[in-house]
Order: sequence, then structure tokens, then C-alpha cells
Amino acid sequence: MNTIANTNNLSVNNRGFNFFDAHCHLQEPEIIWDIDGIISRWRENSGGTIVCCGTKESDWQAVANIASIYDNIIPCFGVHPWFVEDVSDKWFYSLEKYLNITSNYYKYSKPLIGEIGIDHVLKNIDKKKQEIIFKTQLGMAKELHIPVSIHIRKGWDILIKIIKNIGQISNGGVIHSYSGSADMIPILQKYGFYISFSGSVTHSNNKKVQKSLKQVSPERLLIETDSPAILPYYPYLESENQQSIYYDSSNPKWTTKLFQMGLNEPCNIFMVATAISKILDIPLSEVALRTDSNGKELFLKR
Ligand SMILES: [Zn+2]
Repeated sequence: MNTIANTNNLSVNNRGFNFFDAHCHLQEPEIIWDIDGIISRWRENSGGTIVCCGTKESDWQAVANIASIYDNIIPCFGVHPWFVEDVSDKWFYSLEKYLNITSNYYKYSKPLIGEIGIDHVLKNIDKKKQEIIFKTQLGMAKELHIPVSIHIRKGWDILIKIIKNIGQISNGGVIHSYSGSADMIPILQKYGFYISFSGSVTHSNNKKVQKSLKQVSPERLLIETDSPAILPYYPYLESENQQSIYYDSSNPKWTTKLFQMGLNEPCNIFMVATAISKILDIPLSEVALRTDSNGKELFLKR
């Protein structure tokens, strides 16, 4: 697992610019076995910074380990809404401990809290407990002046209620894999949030997310893979001749073994960025440079 450790110094790939993956989960068992390959492919094809988000107490150490082995991986620790019923009595103190040691792993990174949030699409998770754990972590972020990475599905009213109640998160945060309406974008930006888009934007029939993307201010835009989830749509796999708006002529045959297994990884971020460049009608390099700069602004120490 450590054969290519500590050699990545923001290397520039053959495109001449780097991508910034603002949200993924390299610690997940489905992909961790191929971590050396994942990091190699990332460096060869995209090369920049990755934010690796924990989701539950039991995976925080794995996130810390990955960040300690590979450069330019920012660890992020939090309790995801799907796992609020699994927390131990000492989860809060454990989270504090991991936040305090972030700089041991990557000295340029601020401590980060995530992935946290509200998910009312899944009906079997205690809504009250989700809200309490989310609010506790947001309060902690505000007190410690650190950014947050937020997951919201059908919980926008609760997010706004909590922010109005505790006040704006002082170091900002990101709404990851944005799925809300275009109308919410100005409100979220007003509260200091960045908006991140995942592989869901690569589906040409997803008009809602494309409409939302067009509402985002350039200085608030981020991109992510959410690996190993949200595999991007890549038309080349269906037809060699298909010149879709998401076709990447610089790398037309790009797929990985994980991709063919239905698993996402950070090197696929160019598919998300390509889709965004087509939808916004701006060069791919501009999407990469803008989102890399925004990611550094939010997540790194100045
Ligand atoms: Zn996630």
C-alpha cells in the first residue's frame, strides 16, 4: 500500500492542469484493495488534490491512514446521516481527536468535518437523531472555524433552519453532489456554501441538476467523484462513434477495471469536468483551474 507514497507534489498531468476532487471515500472496502492503482491513475490523469471523507467512527482511522501515506489527500472526519444510529457514547470526543491530528497527515489542510447531513429519502433512519448529530457537528465546525462537507437529500428546510438557528458556519462548507433546486443556489451561496457537482451531472436527461449548475457563481463551483459511488455516464462505452457532449477526445478510450465493475474512482473526474464544460460552454481547462482554485480556497490553509 505504500509503494508510491509521498511522491506526489501536485504533479501536472499531460493535460497541463490539475483537477481537485472535492469529495470521495477512498476508505470504502469495495475500492481500498486497489488504493495504489487508484492513486497512480489519479496522478497520471488528473493529478491534484483529493478530499477523502469519513462517514462513521469506524472508518476514521482508515481515512487518517490513507492521508498519512499519500500526499495531497485531505482527510475529513464526520458522522454521515446514514450512520447516526451507530455512534458510540464517545463519538464527539473521538471526532475532536481526529480533527486535532489532521495537520499530522497533511500540513496544508485545515481540519474538516464531513460527511455530515440530513437524508430523508431513506425512511428507516431516525430523523430526530439525524438532526441532533448534524446540528452538533455544525456547531462544532462553527466553534472551531473549520469547513464542513454536507450531504442533503430532501432536508433543505432543516439545513436552513439550523443555519438560521446557530448562525453562518464561519469557515464555510460545501454541499456535495448537489441535487437541490436552482432556486436554492443563491440562498446557499449567501450562507457561505460552495456547490459541488458529481457524476449525476453527466446524465444528459438530468435537466434539474444542469439548471442548478448554471445558477452557481464561478467562485463557488466545485467538482467531485464521490467515489466509489455515482459512476459518471460515459457514452464511449455504448458507441465508439457517439459524439456526445460528454465525449473526451483527448482520452477517448479511458475506462478502468473498477469502472467496468461499476465502481467510481477519482481519475474519472475528467468526465464530470467535461460535462460541466459543455453545459456551461467554457473550456475544460477553465473548469479544472476554477474548481482547483476554489477547492484550495475552501479546504487549505492560506
Ligand atoms: Zn459521500
